Amino acid sequence: MPFIITDPCIGTKDTACVDVCPVDCIHPRKDEPEFALTSMLFIHPDECIDCGACIPACPVAAIYESPDATPAHQNALIEANRAYRAGDAAALAAAEAQVQVHIKAAPKLMALAPADRQAAHGTLVEPSVGE
Ligand code: SF4
Ligand code: SF4
Repeated sequence: MPFIITDPCIGTKDTACVDVCPVDCIHPRKDEPEFALTSMLFIHPDECIDCGACIPACPVAAIYESPDATPAHQNALIEANRAYRAGDAAALAAAEAQVQVHIKAAPKLMALAPADRQAAHGTLVEPSVGE
């Protein structure tokens, strides 16, 4: 099962995970034109080899080890990770649409600093998220 990037990446997006991924499955990279067009980065669900290298590299603990391990209120971002494909404008639009769904549905989480969001994932349940 692929690893999943969640909302602490929104507003951080520092690409530290890209630098450690052995199979280059996290996009967009800084050298890709789509980088300026996305709110966060995404893990290709079929290319991820579940090595775990990206988790300690992320400064804001945005990455979960599987969809099942990801809180349900991040479901739109699970879909965004599934949808995104590097170099595919339609896939980018679909992924970003899911990001915007999440931002709209999770105002309390998004009001927190990115570094504080993961700690709130277990306690700050947004009523309108994941339903
Ligand atoms: S778990 Fe490994 S392969 Fe998957 S995104 Fe993270 S670093 Fe890349
Ligand atoms: S290291 Fe974390 S915050 Fe940085 S780009 Fe990767 S998932 Fe996003």
